[in-house]
Amino acid sequence: MRKTILLLTLAIAIPQLAMAWGYIGHKAIAEIAERNLTPKAKANIERYTKGTPLHEYSLWMDEVVSTSPYNKALAGWHASIADVDCTSPKIVRERYRKSRDGVTAMEDFREQLKDYKSLSDSTVLTAIKCIVHIVADFHCPTHMRYVDLHNEGKYPVDFLGNRWDYHAVWDTGIVEAYHPQWNFIKYAEHLNVLSKGDIKKTTKGWAQEWFEDGCRNVRPIIYWVINDGKKIQKLDQKFVDRCGPLAESQMQKAGYRLAKALNIIFEK
Ligand SMILES: [Zn+2]
Repeated sequence: MRKTILLLTLAIAIPQLAMAWGYIGHKAIAEIAERNLTPKAKANIERYTKGTPLHEYSLWMDEVVSTSPYNKALAGWHASIADVDCTSPKIVRERYRKSRDGVTAMEDFREQLKDYKSLSDSTVLTAIKCIVHIVADFHCPTHMRYVDLHNEGKYPVDFLGNRWDYHAVWDTGIVEAYHPQWNFIKYAEHLNVLSKGDIKKTTKGWAQEWFEDGCRNVRPIIYWVINDGKKIQKLDQKFVDRCGPLAESQMQKAGYRLAKALNIIFEK
């Protein structure tokens, strides 16, 4: 199956609803990445994108998620899984997700794109679209699965007076409610402020290390919302203010790490 990912060709995008980070979050992460590409990586990427900004591709994987052949080829790449100690070694990903997860997909892309210039343009462009989405997705709190806690948040909550799926609260609700007036550019500008030293620290490693860092940060907050199957929990503005900094931190890290992934692959 892994070999098939590079055989993908472009397809017509079909709108679909469930999206980690939603419109603002995904686009902000891609925009931060775009602003942190090295000149050489940017030029190499633009050979395939023809200058289309990365944020334009950031939701593509969610748009085609239910469309053949992507529904099978890209299945599972929107989340990853960690052990109870928040580590995500290959053996855990193989055992619990048959290696159908974002971290493994990023390991495979790194390998498969080593000689990207020998691949077809549409294959490389599809890979760019996937990478832009996958790195963002596995930084989203409800896309972090644990072997003992599914943590998908597929249950109803009362979010700011309206009935929401808790999963969607993290996908879009908190980002939109924390700064209601902000568009994705404003978010990107607000978050694209790390020093060179902090960027280096934040982007150390590759997908597994990045995902594990997120899993450690997210695990304690799982217990903030209890789903007992009886009472619908009310999440108010205080909840938004409590979660906002984590959402922003995860988006910021995702943006810089996405830039690093693209820089490593396309510097050559
Ligand atoms: Zn997704």
